[in-house]
Amino acid sequence: MNALQTPLAAEDQALVEGVLSGRLRALAKTITLIESQRDDHKRRAKAVLEALLPHSGGAMRLGISGVPGVGKSTFIEALGLHLIAQGMKVAVLAVDPSSSLTGGSILGDKTRMELLSQSTSAFIRPSPSAGSLGGVAEKTREAMLVCEAYGFDVIIVETVGVGQSETAVAGMTDMFCLLQLPNAGDDLQAIKKGIMEIADMIVVNKADIDARAAQLARAQMKSALHLLRPASANWTVPVLTLSALHKDGVVEFWQQVEAYRKAMQASGEFEAKRRHQALAWMWEMIDSGLRARFRSHPEVKRQLPGLREAVEEGATTPSAAAWRLLGMLN
Ligand code: GDP
Repeated sequence: MNALQTPLAAEDQALVEGVLSGRLRALAKTITLIESQRDDHKRRAKAVLEALLPHSGGAMRLGISGVPGVGKSTFIEALGLHLIAQGMKVAVLAVDPSSSLTGGSILGDKTRMELLSQSTSAFIRPSPSAGSLGGVAEKTREAMLVCEAYGFDVIIVETVGVGQSETAVAGMTDMFCLLQLPNAGDDLQAIKKGIMEIADMIVVNKADIDARAAQLARAQMKSALHLLRPASANWTVPVLTLSALHKDGVVEFWQQVEAYRKAMQASGEFEAKRRHQALAWMWEMIDSGLRARFRSHPEVKRQLPGLREAVEEGATTPSAAAWRLLGMLN
């Protein structure tokens, strides 16, 4: 235990030991504790995470994104089963900010990955539904650390190809892969959204439907990638064609993941990225913590409605109002 660590209560010690000795029930209970909104649970979760942290970090963290219907669950099932056949253990987590609105998540739903969910070497967990994207992403990051301490070799974090969730997942994984449909114009949409810039690999799925269209899409995406500045001098983003349905291309996909890991580890970028991600996460927590403290400050609460109205009516400037409110924190 280091100086920053909180002592553990007996039941939490049991959770930690359960996770470390590979008990699935303890893993699920720990993640449930992490996802809880109760203040006492939050305190316990923090202590449990601190105890598990030294045992985390051993997995390959893989982000998978793509619009609904592109074939994410079909692909993750095919990839997961391939990895398990190689003797690996695979966890599938999800970041779905819409789950807080709908009260449930279609991502990480076990019925979407039926065979994989039956395997004792797999663990599938739907997206937490903890409010904002920041909240959902934080819980998933923490669940990822618990899964690593448990001993998973590969952690797949799935997200939908809309909005900011992709940036969040790229920010917590070692490699971010984008699944695309072989439609002309699809590539341009991806560029517009700035998603190709954060992809370390692009996959054109459903190549079995029309192999020529898939090859054309691949060529278009490759030339589109030439226009972007590469994130690393040591990695050229590959564009693969694949059929998740027929499990065709899954082996090549994993070979690319291994090649990426090797190249990034050799250049030192693998560890550098994780360090950068950990610091970015800390700052995100500081930002959201400060925001929460600001909003719950009694003087801010008292004066905010009046100042908001004044800004709306043009009676005061936004910056004057902001500085006044921020000054109340002193
Ligand atoms: P998700 O919403 O991205 O998770 O997509 P799903 O995995 O649920 O797939 C959506 C539909 O596309 C399902 O009916 C799948 O069977 C089908 N599908 C997925 N991958 C392929 C593929 O490679 N080829 C074909 N022909 N269909 C596929």
